[in-house]
Amino acid sequence: MTAFAEAVAAGTIGGRLWFYANYHCNLTCTYCLTESSPNAERRVLDAETIRNVADAAVAQGVTSFGVTGGEPFLRPDMIDVLLMLAERLPVLVLSNATLFGGRVFEDVKRLAGSRVAIQISLDSAAPDDNDEMRGPENFAKVVDAIPKLIALGITVRIATTGDHGTPAEKADLCALHRSFGITDDDHVVRPIVHRGRAASNDLGVYATAADLPAELTVTRDGAFWSPFGPTVQGGRLDLDLLLSRTVYPLEIPINAMLEVAGRKPGGGDATLAIR
Ligand code: SF4
Repeated sequence: MTAFAEAVAAGTIGGRLWFYANYHCNLTCTYCLTESSPNAERRVLDAETIRNVADAAVAQGVTSFGVTGGEPFLRPDMIDVLLMLAERLPVLVLSNATLFGGRVFEDVKRLAGSRVAIQISLDSAAPDDNDEMRGPENFAKVVDAIPKLIALGITVRIATTGDHGTPAEKADLCALHRSFGITDDDHVVRPIVHRGRAASNDLGVYATAADLPAELTVTRDGAFWSPFGPTVQGGRLDLDLLLSRTVYPLEIPINAMLEVAGRKPGGGDATLAIR
């Protein structure tokens, strides 16, 4: 067993490895951690690096992959990347689900029967409340996409950002996801984190490394402690949670992560419920 696998088994670090596929997005959400937008610097992590890191990750004892951005499905090669990863381990890809019409949806059909699950952002069952921070027509596009994906046999999870709303409004949101057949176990609620555009807009909770999930995260610009690490503010990549500029060979960021994990007090992530 590798030292990484031992740390995962001990619960010191998480077993999932994240890839930041790209940083551009068709949306410009108010609380976006990466200042993503159609004009954002793309910072695309090339498919060859993803493949090399994935193979090394399997050998190290990584247990699953995550893919995030930006909006990953803006990449023309994203389905091929996801299927390549899913040949190795289960994959969770985060998406705003607003591109799943027309040609992109035809491509997404290739994920049916694979080990790829899609986590979709949805903040409220009230369209206006949902769209306030995510943009016009967001709610309508998301609730159109979810049943189409489920009909393909693809596992869909819902991620709600911002633990706001009255108990009745929260109940409405849970009733909505249950109406699609999405269980409570597949509904993630997490606070807005005070980084990126959220920080610029003075939103969210302050979080340290101890508050954030310890899951090795690979970007074009280096490897980070957590998927909440490689955020962007004022056009600059945040480096406070950088482990190494080198992402491959994977031993370099893994050794850096194990060293930090050895120094970090445990238990903090339960406080803010960031996941
Ligand atoms: S929060 Fe997600 S969907 Fe919204 S702008 Fe950022 S990357 Fe795009």
